[in-house]
Amino acid sequence: MSFIFDTTKKIVSQLPSGVSLVAATKTRVVAEIEEAIAAGVAAIGENYVQEAQEKFSVIGNKVKWHLIGHLQKNKAKFAVKVFDMIETLDSVELAGALNKECKKINKIMPVLIEVNSACEPQKAGVLPDRVQDLLCGVACFGNIKVMGLMTMGPLMDEPEVMRPFFKKTKEIFDAIRADYPSNEEWKYLSMGMSDSYKIAIEEGANIVRVGTAIFGRR
Ligand SMILES: *Cc1c(COP(=O)(O)O)cnc(C)c1O
Repeated sequence: MSFIFDTTKKIVSQLPSGVSLVAATKTRVVAEIEEAIAAGVAAIGENYVQEAQEKFSVIGNKVKWHLIGHLQKNKAKFAVKVFDMIETLDSVELAGALNKECKKINKIMPVLIEVNSACEPQKAGVLPDRVQDLLCGVACFGNIKVMGLMTMGPLMDEPEVMRPFFKKTKEIFDAIRADYPSNEEWKYLSMGMSDSYKIAIEEGANIVRVGTAIFGRR
């Protein structure tokens, strides 16, 4: 059996119940992704719309497709056709573009708000204290539903350094849940990558995005 198949099996089998894996597949070819799917991957995360379109045309919708990279408004039209979830909502303008394109194809798109939890300049996502504003700003869009938060955290050699940023994102997630207790759609917290997903799960993540630990070094 192959490396990818074995590593995927191991990771999937060790996830606590209620936590789902998104295999981060940027730069990976279809044959590699198919091995991961054979081993139990049910969702894959792509960073670029065009790369996802190409793979989608071969793999199709036997898996869920998550967009985990930054999305430009002018790509919304193509993104809504491929993806089952957009994890990187970071502006009202982008939400508006997604809403418009989803309406055209009669789709309601699950989205997560990306939080720039370490408040790093030049980094994608909204600052922690702007999450509520964005949530209010998109409330009128009937063709997207905001289902939670995603964060990258600062990229560090020592994954333990990321823990406070996961904690902080969980706090924002919980505060919003407390504000809208009847919103049963508010349920996803996407945090953690190959080096940090175990820490992220300890801090409340229920979606983890793992690439290198499945496929090897890019
Ligand atoms: C590449 C990527 C991951 C996975 O990173 P690995 O370190 O390869 O596990 C997770 N999330 C996002 C947004 C990514 O771009």
